[in-house]
Amino acid sequence: MPVAMSTRVPVLTTSTRRAAPSGPVRTHCPYCAFQCGLLVTPAAEGGVKVVGDPDFPVNAGALCLKGFTAGETLAHPDRLRTPLIRNPDGQLVAADWDRALDTIASSVRTLQRKHGRDAIGVFGGGSLTNEKVYLLGKFARAVLRTPHIDYNGRFCMSSAAAAGLRAFGVDRGLPFPVADIAGAEVVLLAGANVADTMPPLMQYFDAQRRAGGQMILVDPRRTTTAQQSTLHLRLIPGTDAVLAHGLLHVLIHERLIDEGYIRERTEGFEAVRAHAATYWPERVERLTGVPQRDIVTAARTLGRAASAIILTARGAEQQAQGVGNVLSYINLALAMGRVGRPFNGYGCLTGQGNGQGGREHGQKADQLPGYRRLDDAAAREHVAALWGVAAEDLPGPGRSAYELLDSLGRDGGVRGLLVMGSNPVVSAPNASHIEGRLAALDFLVVADFFLSETARLAHVVLPSAQWAEEDGTMTNLEGRVIRRRRVVDPPPGVRTDLQILNGLARAMGSTRGFPSTPAAALEELRRATAGAPADYSGITTARIDRDRGVFWPCPSRARKDTPRLFADRFYTPSGRARFHRVHTFGPAERPDSDYPFYLTTGRVLAQYQSGTQTRRVAALTRVAGDAEAEIHPRAAQRAGLADGGTVTIETRRGRASFRVKTTPGIREDTIFVPFHWPDHRSANRLTNTALDPISRMPEFKVCAARIAPARRIQS
Ligand code: SF4
Repeated sequence: MPVAMSTRVPVLTTSTRRAAPSGPVRTHCPYCAFQCGLLVTPAAEGGVKVVGDPDFPVNAGALCLKGFTAGETLAHPDRLRTPLIRNPDGQLVAADWDRALDTIASSVRTLQRKHGRDAIGVFGGGSLTNEKVYLLGKFARAVLRTPHIDYNGRFCMSSAAAAGLRAFGVDRGLPFPVADIAGAEVVLLAGANVADTMPPLMQYFDAQRRAGGQMILVDPRRTTTAQQSTLHLRLIPGTDAVLAHGLLHVLIHERLIDEGYIRERTEGFEAVRAHAATYWPERVERLTGVPQRDIVTAARTLGRAASAIILTARGAEQQAQGVGNVLSYINLALAMGRVGRPFNGYGCLTGQGNGQGGREHGQKADQLPGYRRLDDAAAREHVAALWGVAAEDLPGPGRSAYELLDSLGRDGGVRGLLVMGSNPVVSAPNASHIEGRLAALDFLVVADFFLSETARLAHVVLPSAQWAEEDGTMTNLEGRVIRRRRVVDPPPGVRTDLQILNGLARAMGSTRGFPSTPAAALEELRRATAGAPADYSGITTARIDRDRGVFWPCPSRARKDTPRLFADRFYTPSGRARFHRVHTFGPAERPDSDYPFYLTTGRVLAQYQSGTQTRRVAALTRVAGDAEAEIHPRAAQRAGLADGGTVTIETRRGRASFRVKTTPGIREDTIFVPFHWPDHRSANRLTNTALDPISRMPEFKVCAARIAPARRIQS
């Protein structure tokens, strides 16, 4: 039994604080996976001044409103500045770090003694740096020795990741630099509203169209992005795979496929060809609502182009058949012979800040660092040797995110949970239910910089540092590893997540091998990923600085990195890409007489994810201060709803209220709500928990709902 050591960890004190930098510091935006380069200069009272970095090649100086205002959260009055412990009266009260860490360690020990090691779980996030992700996985598996670690990225990119692994043998969101978009003659964008969620990315689409290119947009809503498309396919929610089968049908029928490429570089096409034969345009129009002339036009536009890129995002992926949807779009790209050629191919537009690195380094339930599999004996040996533990002592795969959250507080489930970088009370599907499960825990620890809705339920809250107060690496949507740099010190009393993990490991009796600095953590991560699919072993901070980011895989310092994948071979055992015959079953819940509408959810321009940060930024709340439901004017009129009024939306999970925004841009049978707000405005109180059988992605994007003026269906 390990002996508990001192819980003290090195903490920056006033005397060890850095002098303010003399000029702006190059770092990156704390929000989405585009990871815009920023120039950040310290300002008065712990704040910073933020402008876009014109020399970072991805955003080239452009930012959206979220990036420009990112500094507002640093000196915000809501910042947590001391640990909090819940007292016997149920109040969260200030405590010192030693007491907080000792309380956590003794509670974990008690629960594991009573219920076994598996009674403790860890829930991470897709915005954590690579170093944090790596150490969070190590903490769970080598210190707590629990199999139960997963993260909120399961709710974001897991379907595209699973599809990429199946089709190509590796998952890197964009297997080409984002600049390739500008050089593609045609881009098909499925379920992405880039103009609102990632505005600086639009510069590549704008350049593409200026050069005469075409953009085909697949979305049930006429979004800001759809308004800029050359062809908008306004499909019924949940019918992406059917639409993709229909497009493939036309491509095959009109001989617009690349038989030579299919023969030489792929396998499994004949079964897909036979399957696609049954998806003729008239049938696909009936199933998807997309006019057959548009299906034919889209297929011809794609098939006749000299270059074409197909991109998916959450609209197609956050479904109970999200993996099947993505595989169906990949089938299209493979059939046209696009994948592996410059300005061509398939890619996923990753969402969260470190959504790419966050899914590579061991915070997924079935994964070890570098995209190694937990059920692979050689992978276990490699990582166990580095961690100084026996391979047989590493736990096996644990529960996926929703299944983990659903098990909380139950017999045989997780009784104590550490949450880092996530706010599942707002972001999980069927949110009221998950809030109840979190409240049923014997012990909940949350590390965050604000008292999020999840932190409010915690027994111990640990105040953590923010983006401009820490160093580390992130991996953007292209698979480009970049540096997050510290610009200002955290407020006194606040620790970085790495310091927190180091302190927790020590408190749990782990006396060695738990780095507390980003440099030491990156060094260990490089060794952990050597030889793995996501190989970071050749990536150093000096190289990132020199090249403005390094694309993985990068297996040695001497070798070049890999901006474009699949030029010669795929990462499958045969080296060929795999087609997949996808049987479509549609959404798990369809409208009926009780719940006659499709409900779909998403993001808006001036908010981000669960809103813990962005709901506290005045400039953003001025633009998007309230949750608005988009409803077609005729549907609103039939329900007795007027623009600016309040609608209550009800599903089989619960109800929530939103301000009404009527728009002819949405299908008459569909309602859209954003998911950034909690409590009675929570979209995720409505969403369905049906899971994709492969990725375990919940079906955020489709469920059945009914609407009424707020007063009619109040409980
Ligand atoms: Fe760029 Fe995304 Fe940040 Fe906006 S939120 S500035 S698009 S990284």
